[in-house]
Parts: sequence; structure tokens; C-alpha cells
Amino acid sequence: MPDQNTPPTIRQAREQAIKELSGRDSATIDAEVLLMHCCTIDRGNLWTQEQQPLTAEQYDKFQQLLQLRHQGYPIAHLTGEKEFWSLPFAISPNSLIPRPETELLVEQALLRIAETSVLSIADLGTGCGNIAAAIGHERPDSKIIATDIDADTLSVARQNFENLGLMNIGCLPGSWCEPLGKRRFNIIVSNPPYIAAGDPHLHQGDVAHEPGLALIAGSDGLSAIRVIIEQARHHLEPGGWLLLEHGFDQQDNVSRLFLQQDYINIQCYRDLSGHPRVTEGQITTN
Ligand code: GLN
Repeated sequence: MPDQNTPPTIRQAREQAIKELSGRDSATIDAEVLLMHCCTIDRGNLWTQEQQPLTAEQYDKFQQLLQLRHQGYPIAHLTGEKEFWSLPFAISPNSLIPRPETELLVEQALLRIAETSVLSIADLGTGCGNIAAAIGHERPDSKIIATDIDADTLSVARQNFENLGLMNIGCLPGSWCEPLGKRRFNIIVSNPPYIAAGDPHLHQGDVAHEPGLALIAGSDGLSAIRVIIEQARHHLEPGGWLLLEHGFDQQDNVSRLFLQQDYINIQCYRDLSGHPRVTEGQITTN
């Protein structure tokens, strides 16, 4: 067993960490991701360099991060990054960690944006910018505006767009559609907060460490969705679409809110776990 004076090899560190995190389903993947992060190596190097010893500095950092993971801190907060749509994003604790189910929102939006069309798109509450970036990456001819109420969060998004070389995305600070002025868009997308204030899920897993601003939406979880559906209709071109992510049990309520605001062609799509997750609606006239 390695002692403090002789840092372990990559292989030993991996095995030791998996044992330490063994209470978690994600023990192996967590140990590997933290190890790759501390040693700045990729997955292949975990095996090709397994006999390589860590430096004392790498081992110290690895032990610190393992400890924090043990206490429940999200992996993305420990590494400061998260992949979404196969693109790397810098993450700050001020915004939501991108989730795989949100890729459904991107997929459905892309179906509404022909590859060579020059469409205008808005992403409301962009967080680290993952949705806007994924769409901007797939549709380089489109023009995208990303809004967020939190200035620090928006600066992380701006940095991500720059790192990814996405010149077709602009940022505006403010709440939902408020910073959009008189602008109109062909597509508006958002993954707003949609958890009810008293929901016990707020105390479980990564969510317990994420900002309430990005998660909680009033006593019914619908307060942000309600505002967006109402505001967005005034910022859509005739024929434009609003696409929203929502909770697994909010399909009926969300459809009703779309209907009340005279959207048409309202449809809901299920995520990979089979949960109704994204609803879209179209505006004919304003
Ligand atoms: N748009 C970001 C995401 O989908 C942030 C969403 C949020 O903060 N609710 O991850």
C-alpha cells in the first residue's frame, strides 16, 4: 500500500479510490474521472500509463477531491467541467450541471432548423451555455442569443462559446425574454427551473449542491414556465416555435399553459428514460 512519501501508481490510485467510493453506483467512473483530471490524462492513458507514479502534487489533489466526492460534491464541480452534446463545458457552481436528458431539447430544436437555413434562435436561462452552444455548433449559419439573469453565469457561458469557437452566439443579461427588446425569433428554447419548492429531490444527489435559482420554480414548479410561455409569444416570428424542457409529471400542465396562450401544434416528447420531457408549441400570428 502506498504511503504519503511514495505516491501510488495510476493503477494503485485508481483501485484505492474505487474502494474508497464503493458506497456509490458511480464509484468506478467517479474515481477514473477524478484521476484523469488530477493527472491531466485521457481515458486511454489510464491503461497505457498505469505503472506511472503520480507526483506528490497530483496525489494530494486527488485525495482532496476524493474526500469532497465522498461528501457528495458533484463531479462536475470538482473538475470544473462537464461534457454535453460531446462538447466540453466549463462549469461554475452558480449554474446547473448539464444533464443528458436536455439533449432531447437540442434534438427537437434541430429538427425545426434546416441545416443551411439562417434562422434566429433564443436560449433563455442559458446557464453554462450548453443548449445554445450545441445548437450553434450544429447550425453554424443560425444567429443565437443566450440570456441569463445571473451575470457571473453569463460570463461562464460567454467563455464557453469563445472556447468552442462559436461566433454565432451573443449574450444578453436579464430575466427570460426581458433583455430581448423588440427582437423576434424563429425558435425559442429553454430549460428553465421546474422543481417545486418543497420537492424532496432537492436534497438528493448533485441537486443538493446546485443553485436554487436554476432549479426551483415556485410552489408548483411551473412559475418560470408560465412566464416564458406568456412572454415568448411576443418574441416569436409568425410560424415560430417555443420548445421547453419540463418535469416528468408536468406534461398536462405545460400543454394547458401553451393552449391558454394560443399556441398551436402542441406536442410532447419523451426522454431516453421514457419520461415526457420536452413540449413544443407554434405561434401563427402575434
Ligand atoms: N440551460 C442550462 C441547462 O440546460 C441551464 C438550465 C437551468 O439553469 N435551469 O443545463
